[in-house]
Amino acid sequence: MDDETTIGQMNADAEKFYDDRGWNHDPKDLAISTAIESAELLEIFRFRSGEEVKELLKDPEFSKSLRDEISDVALNLLGLAHACGIDMSEAFTQKMRENVKRYPAKPE
Ligand SMILES: [Mg+2]
Repeated sequence: MDDETTIGQMNADAEKFYDDRGWNHDPKDLAISTAIESAELLEIFRFRSGEEVKELLKDPEFSKSLRDEISDVALNLLGLAHACGIDMSEAFTQKMRENVKRYPAKPE
């Protein structure tokens, strides 16, 4: 599905979700919400080793919790970008170009 769904479609879904509920959060609230949802994501991993997490990924209930929290973070990030007039695709692409320069690939 990642190959079919665009960031633009995700933005439209997020915007509709907020609009349908009359939620017009300002950037500060969306930034706070992003941090809170990120903490909920971290909570899933708390006190678990990498090996435990690898095993838990086979559990549909664990996997669903992880997907839900990642999606909550994404929803708030998209909302934050929109509220700030930031084109997410452009910002991400530009930042990745900067990352490539800042962290050169290992020579083969
Ligand atoms: Mg959540």
